[in-house]
Amino acid sequence: TKVNKNFENLVPNYLFADIAKKTNEFIKANPDKKLIRLGIGDVTLPLAPVVVEAMKKGCDELGVKETFKGYPDYEGYEFLRTAISDYYKSFGVNVSADEILVNDGAKSDAGNIGDIFAEDNVILVTDPVYPVYVDSNIMAGRKILYADGTEENNFCAMPDPDVKADIIYLCSPNNPTGACLNKEQLKAWVDYANANNSLIIYDAAYEAFITEDDIPRSIMEIEGARTCAIEMCSLSKTAGFTGTRCGYTIVPKALGKLNKMWLRRQTTKFNGVPYIVQRAAEAVFTEEGQKEIKENIGYYKENAKVISETLKRCNIWHVGGEHSPYIWLRCPNNMKSWEFFDYLLEKANVVGTPGSGFGPSGEGYFRLTAFGTYENTVEAVERIKKL
Ligand code: PLP
Repeated sequence: TKVNKNFENLVPNYLFADIAKKTNEFIKANPDKKLIRLGIGDVTLPLAPVVVEAMKKGCDELGVKETFKGYPDYEGYEFLRTAISDYYKSFGVNVSADEILVNDGAKSDAGNIGDIFAEDNVILVTDPVYPVYVDSNIMAGRKILYADGTEENNFCAMPDPDVKADIIYLCSPNNPTGACLNKEQLKAWVDYANANNSLIIYDAAYEAFITEDDIPRSIMEIEGARTCAIEMCSLSKTAGFTGTRCGYTIVPKALGKLNKMWLRRQTTKFNGVPYIVQRAAEAVFTEEGQKEIKENIGYYKENAKVISETLKRCNIWHVGGEHSPYIWLRCPNNMKSWEFFDYLLEKANVVGTPGSGFGPSGEGYFRLTAFGTYENTVEAVERIKKL
């Protein structure tokens, strides 16, 4: 049996496993210290009441012969795809229900979309980056180019006309940096992709954190995007679905056979999202659902503001934290990412995420997240301030 040799090119350890190991060792050696985790990438607030109600109602329906459902539709139930399509209309974007495919979270589609593309496509990722784009393409043996995020470009890397790539991954608001592409910047990427016959895979997992008109929630807001972009989105961070699992991918009909190919791939390797989850997701897009999830997002954004304001007062360079739950900072005193991780853990008993774990441009930077409790966030930043 021959294994996929490309796996040998992956970094051996998953970043968060290394963090957990170091953190657990610290807890063992210092059982009396109160550790605060500002590294978590998972939500902590519960599902909105209207979502829970919808899920319970869905359960009741499954317990009755007349309303029982078996395998769901591969592409998602019409009711949810229509609700998503109406949501896009609410900010002026026309996406038809048959361009939307429901999934069990954006990670699956971000990792699997490569199935419909040839092995010899050249990939471009902005660096630092959500590791799934890189790792899934390493597994497939594709060549990967990096567009470097730096302080000069505010961690919004822009296209270089001299670099030719077939598939480009963009994520805005970005994980890990929290940086957002404005309309002009995103238009530059769309123009580059159309000019080079490239495809953009646009990850909008954090779009619900955006509260400014100049920052697009969807790449489909940009003229020309429908002929060069696939968009992925998730209810995980938007509505607390990290454990419930639901997201969606938009493959515009203007991309020709890609829409049909992706459905063909899904019908072969995926059997749909549970009815009760799709009913819960539908509730997110109701007026009441939007109101309730915005309260939770507002809570995380307040935490982000607390972190960002403290860093400003300490004169620590950073981006993000405004339309995102992530804050990306330069490690003080030229420390390396892991050096600062150890320092913060030892001296302030605060856990964050070393930027170098997200790619070469992340070295010397550090990610803090706003998903903790308000009280813990305030206490953590007080400790950082003292340091
Ligand atoms: N895309 C980005 C940029 C993310 O940060 C995450 C999760 O952290 C995902 C996708 C995956 O989300 P999901 O829970 O929908 O799989």
